[in-house]
Amino acid sequence: MTEQTETRSRKLLGRLRDALAAEGAGQERLDRITHLIADSMRTEVCSIYLFRDEDTLELCATQGLNAEAVHKTRLRLGEGLVGRVARFSRPVNAPDAPSEKGFRYMPETGEEVFSSFLGVPIQRLGERLGVLVVQSREAREFSGDEIYGLEVVAMVLAEMAELGAFIGEGAALSAPHQQPVVINGGVAQEGVAEGRAYLHEPRVIVTRPIAEDPHLEARRLRGAINFLRVSVDDMLSAEEGGDKEQLQVLEAYRMFANSKGWMRRMEEDIARGLTAEAAVEKEQSSARARLGQVPDAYLRERLYDLDDLSNRLLRILTGQGADAGAELPENPILVARNIGPAELLEYGRKLKGIVLEEGSVGSHATIVARALAIPLVIHAARITTEALNGDHMMIDGEQGIVHLRPDDTVVAAFRDKMAMQAKAQERYVSIRDKPAETLSGEVITLKMNAGLMADLPSLEGSGAEGVGLFRTELQFLIRNKVPRRGELAALYARVMDAAKGRPVIFRTLDIGSDKVLPYMKPQDEPNPALGWRAIRVGLDKPGVMRMQAQALLRGAGGRPLAVMFPMIAQFEEFKAARALFLREVERERTLGHVLPERLEIGAMLETPSLAFAPAQFFGMADFISIGGNDLKQFFFAADRENELVRKRYDTLNVSFLGLVEHIARRCDEAGTPVSFCGEDAGRPVEALCFAAVGLRSLSMRPASIGPVKHLLRQSDLRAARRVIEEARASGRQSVRPAIMEWLRSGG
Ligand code: PEP
Ligand code: MG
Repeated sequence: MTEQTETRSRKLLGRLRDALAAEGAGQERLDRITHLIADSMRTEVCSIYLFRDEDTLELCATQGLNAEAVHKTRLRLGEGLVGRVARFSRPVNAPDAPSEKGFRYMPETGEEVFSSFLGVPIQRLGERLGVLVVQSREAREFSGDEIYGLEVVAMVLAEMAELGAFIGEGAALSAPHQQPVVINGGVAQEGVAEGRAYLHEPRVIVTRPIAEDPHLEARRLRGAINFLRVSVDDMLSAEEGGDKEQLQVLEAYRMFANSKGWMRRMEEDIARGLTAEAAVEKEQSSARARLGQVPDAYLRERLYDLDDLSNRLLRILTGQGADAGAELPENPILVARNIGPAELLEYGRKLKGIVLEEGSVGSHATIVARALAIPLVIHAARITTEALNGDHMMIDGEQGIVHLRPDDTVVAAFRDKMAMQAKAQERYVSIRDKPAETLSGEVITLKMNAGLMADLPSLEGSGAEGVGLFRTELQFLIRNKVPRRGELAALYARVMDAAKGRPVIFRTLDIGSDKVLPYMKPQDEPNPALGWRAIRVGLDKPGVMRMQAQALLRGAGGRPLAVMFPMIAQFEEFKAARALFLREVERERTLGHVLPERLEIGAMLETPSLAFAPAQFFGMADFISIGGNDLKQFFFAADRENELVRKRYDTLNVSFLGLVEHIARRCDEAGTPVSFCGEDAGRPVEALCFAAVGLRSLSMRPASIGPVKHLLRQSDLRAARRVIEEARASGRQSVRPAIMEWLRSGG
């Protein structure tokens, strides 16, 4: 790059700044800008195309093409050369445009006389805003320098668009971040919520993209980079000897922070007239544009690292960010690309809802959100770019829908829905202390599932008769090392204190498959759900399980204790796990610790094989808990994490219901109490059918207890059973239609 091009670029940016600062409507500014750019680039044409909607680009201003075409010429994403620039977020440089593949002739523009074409994307942090084009009569290829120069200009336009510089009469561009947006994401935790957006990582707003003094900007950039390097080094030494994965990420950060290429590009941007923060953002934008096109997961991760690092740098340069960030608004709805379980726990129940751009059904954050019963929508594309702090939001976790800045009709409809749910909740409060007794006289025990201390207050509010499943893995998942025995014992003691004598069933550590401990070497397994997990890990590496057994025994401190083992597939496994636990009981006895006044050891029935175990198994187990989430995935061979098949098979399929009935009968024969603790227990119609085929105990999310009890108290189980039997006899695949019909007709 010659000094001359630098000076020219800076001069153009200076003129742009003046044009943008001048009074006038958005359209006037755009017109002036196209004129300035054409003049500076020495081309006959300069045009700005902006997105009208997600797929349509509109010619919004031009110097050199027919003025009548402005606001008339439209192209779809991918259509013509302009559409191609937008689709691939890459420049197109064509000396002989009309003969270029994909060229689309727009007669109203009069562009046929122009031979060469250069188009660059106008984009900001992965958000496509439009395309900036220059054209000239002379058939020539634009130089690398010219492309770069035009990209710098496009960057400034993107920043100005973000700040609303082009809004006004003739509305070249609708105001950014003001329109309602609906995003269809994925369901991770049900529930509806209304509140205000709170960005976990707030967007940094660059208010000053054009520099006055490039030397000063270069110094600012170097200062910020130095600060960043030192802080990454500090983080690295703090993590020394710690979590390997975390170290790897930090090493990648260090690599980028010291990357000469990255630094050189930003310095070049500054030499051409951008401020330090605009230079960082320009490189960040092009990295984001690449992100979408990189198929390799490893490389994508590295680009994310670069993105995170750029955000840090922007915060250093602008003083905006986490510390200087917005206060948590009232009814906050957390918006993030992704979030770790520990960070989520820090926000805790203050949040009304969570929307993630990524996330997955089985991620730790999802587990925490479920435990806290906070509605969560995942895979909400572009939410972190669309939402601003404080934006009005309504989310529907049941359907995975996010309404950002909803209009009045949506607000009204949504509030109706929330009111209906609130009314239903009131009804549930009135039956909270009543038993779940059916019209035919059976009494069903309803307990709640938990996994955090924070869940326990729900015992009172929901009317649960105890904790039917306490998932113990969360304490292991949210730390970066194995928790200590003393810590766990104290927690288990507090859980029992909070239960105030109501029974709590602790499930021993269930890890592997979707629940990967951050400090455990991940196994590269072809089918993790069928792999080395749960009790299999516990028996093969008994150290942690023994420690947990000791913690449970000490936590109980003489009170009755109930424990169960996850994923028991055959009698032998149960015998081995039980023997291991009992050895710890003996050990505690010899050490002189007080033992539980009563100890019950049960098994989770999560594999079809266990339903057919010898009668002696059912005799030995003190109780059985059906882990329906896993049992169903193994029964139908349909991955519970896979969106394509997750909902393919109905829980009320006659075969699955038959299996549940078979288990209930076998437990009955052995006199062993049995309960169902998978998610389906919390769905009223499913719960009713489980009760109808013989289950007398169900454990579910606290919020489900009211609705389940409400339906059970109005139902005649014997009649429901007849409906199920008829459906079966008539060869139906699922009993659902028949049961629904029966319920609708007053059953
Ligand atoms: C189940 O599988 O149904 C269960 C309750 O356990 P988890 O969901 O924790 O695997
Ligand atoms: Mg399970």
